[in-house]
Amino acid sequence: MKKLVGKLIGLAFISMLAVSCGGDKQSSGDVVKSQKTFKWKLVTSWPKNFPGLGTAPENFAKLVNEMSGGRLTVKVYGAGEIVPGFEVFDAVSQGTAQMGHAASYYWKGKMPAAPIFTAIPFGFNAQETNGWLHYGGGIEMWRELYKPFGVIPFAGGNTGVQAAGWFKKEINSVADLQGLKIRIPGLGGEVMKKLGAVPVALTGGELFTSLQSGAIDATEWVGPYNDLAFGFHKVAEHYYTSGWHEPGAMLEFTVNEKAYNELPKDLQKIVEVATRAINQDMLDEYTARNNNAMETLKNKHGVVFKSFPNDVMAALKQASNEVIAEQEASDETFAKIMKSYRQFQLQVSEYHNLSEVEYYKNREQ
Ligand code: CA
Repeated sequence: MKKLVGKLIGLAFISMLAVSCGGDKQSSGDVVKSQKTFKWKLVTSWPKNFPGLGTAPENFAKLVNEMSGGRLTVKVYGAGEIVPGFEVFDAVSQGTAQMGHAASYYWKGKMPAAPIFTAIPFGFNAQETNGWLHYGGGIEMWRELYKPFGVIPFAGGNTGVQAAGWFKKEINSVADLQGLKIRIPGLGGEVMKKLGAVPVALTGGELFTSLQSGAIDATEWVGPYNDLAFGFHKVAEHYYTSGWHEPGAMLEFTVNEKAYNELPKDLQKIVEVATRAINQDMLDEYTARNNNAMETLKNKHGVVFKSFPNDVMAALKQASNEVIAEQEASDETFAKIMKSYRQFQLQVSEYHNLSEVEYYKNREQ
């Protein structure tokens, strides 16, 4: 018995030695790195903890903290806490914060092609956006676009088809858009401008008071879930759905490249996988919550959901095509990315007309 125990101890010692020797060469660097902890700041364009948009980065932080066993902790800041909502990209680029959560179309002044990665009017829905991004070459082009700024983008959630917005007066014709002061960012704003409206850029937190005071006549924001939270139904009577301008608006996580490269490989992977999980999670949440919010708006607040007349929608589509063509003509990068986008949209539309669209029609029979 004594002999056997001695033999076992000997064997155990030899195998420990083998493990430590094998481990030495290969991963001593990682072992040292893995003891190191990282504390990151994540700045956002949203009010702190705002439903969906603001809770997604909080959920991301929680996930990363748990997955890394506390080796990487992420603290989330609302708009204005460290930097204003429209300065998130610069803060990440300069390293003021290691991460950001915002929407790429806020940076169109810096990069005309950036809005493609939020939404294209009459373009992809959420499902198609994710398909193009992760399996159609989209994310590679997005990373190339942000590379000169030392920023790495990741998909950061999707709201699904948004609402066209809240209007103080009814829209019965294209003429009703003349001179209309409407908060609508990105390419949608350019389209509205083409039809005579005056697009205004405001962050979420400014919208209610601007609409209430009459500084703006209309605003798009997101959809029932988020719009109810801001209480727009108290200050504007007409709610138009079918957001032609943002048929599947994607949010973004941005990471400072230098900070990312300082992480050991496993923490980099955790960041990547957590963004992917939150990207899907936000869409799941909106799919569930929009329904409840729609019921509350209809039944509790008497809001009537409306659609633009067909000729208004047709004019918006025509103007969208013109805006996109102009952007392609004036910016080489926009044209290059749109080429890939269009090609994917042609294919996916053809198949989705046969699958998704057919199915929706059949389901309602
Ligand atoms: Ca929007």
